[in-house]
Order: sequence, then structure tokens, then C-alpha cells
Amino acid sequence: MEINKILEYQTLDSELFKLEKSLRDNQDKKMAAQMQNNAKIAQERSLKLDEKAKELEKEYQNAKNQYQVQKKKMDEIFEKDVDKLSKEEVEKLEKLKDKLAQNLSILERNFAKIAENMSGLLSEFNKTKNAFQMAKEQFARCKQNFDKAQSQALPRQQELTKKLTSLEKGIDAKIIEEYKKRRAENIFPVVVSLAGNCCGGCRVELSMANISKLKENGILTCEHCHRIIYLK
Ligand SMILES: [Zn+2]
Repeated sequence: MEINKILEYQTLDSELFKLEKSLRDNQDKKMAAQMQNNAKIAQERSLKLDEKAKELEKEYQNAKNQYQVQKKKMDEIFEKDVDKLSKEEVEKLEKLKDKLAQNLSILERNFAKIAENMSGLLSEFNKTKNAFQMAKEQFARCKQNFDKAQSQALPRQQELTKKLTSLEKGIDAKIIEEYKKRRAENIFPVVVSLAGNCCGGCRVELSMANISKLKENGILTCEHCHRIIYLK
């Protein structure tokens, strides 16, 4: 087994692995995802605020209608010619007037409350709008940075991939397959030397039978971490 070829392959691959990892862990990429989420939250929030605004609008219309009805009743009382009414009728009217005045004052308080809620809603709506705008801007900035990092890494990635493909041809297909499986699981390095009697990757001790096998074949798959162990 040409262990040197695999090691050469791995050395080259480690640069590619690092490049890929740095793109995976890219802060701008993470931030962009976060900002996208923030924008979504802000959007959902403004939909809810919109619903609340519609409810308030209904409340306002309702209060306005009630106010007009009570006000009309009140106006009717003032239009009456009191001189033509009996004492009882006047007393009844006075009571009704008091009641209407009370209702109107309650409705006025309602208006004030609705106005207060409206203004609170509006300020929250503006806050949400700003949060959305900020998230959108930050997302665009982060995405631009990440795209740049990605396109900067691309030529070297392509170059390394090409070299690896050509090196691959000189290595046992089975080993390459095993190697790629581990690498896809982000286990790196895949090929490790025997360290004492232990796997150079996971440090678990090999059985005597496995050590014999390793000595016989030159390589062995670790039973614990599935890395490829070789003898130095
Ligand atoms: Zn191991």
C-alpha cells in the first residue's frame, strides 16, 4: 500500500478542508442568516400590528356611532320647548339628560383610550419598520461580504479539487471511498499514524489482533473512530 500517496493526498486536501471550514464558519454568513431571521420576525410583527390597528379602527367606529346616537338624543332634548311640558315630563327629561351626559363622558374617555392605543401602536409599528429595514440592510452587507469571500476562495478550491482528482487515480479506490466518507462527516485528518498502541486520531488502544493486522497490511480502519491508521 502506497501510504505516501494517501498522505500526500491528505496534505493537499487539508488545505481544501480548511478553506471549506472557513466558509462554513464565516461570520458574515452566520450574521446574514440571523438578519434574515430578524427581518422575518419584524415582518410577522408588523402583520400582527396591522391586525391590531384594524381592531382599533373598528372600536373607534363603534364608539363614534354610539357617540352620534347619544348626541342626537341629547340635541333632541335641547330642542324641546320646556314651557309646554308638565313638571313630571321636565323631571324625566332632566334625568334622561344626566344619563346621556354620563354616557357621552364615558364615550369621550373611550376615545381618549383609543387614541392612546393608536399612538402606542403607531410607535411600535415604526420601531418594527426600522428593525426590518436595519435587518435588511445588514443582511445585504453580510451577504455581499460572504459572496466575496466565497468567490475569492473559489479559484484555489477548484485548483485543489483538480489536483486531488488527479492524485486520486494513483490510490486504491476502496481507500479513497472510505476516506471520502469520513471527510464528509467532517472527520479530519482521516489518515492517522499509530501512536504507541493507540489510534492517532481518537487515542483508543488497538487490540493485539488489530495491531498484527495493521503490521500485516500497513493500514487498518480504527474500530472506534473509523479513521485510517497507518504504521510509520
Ligand atoms: Zn480511532
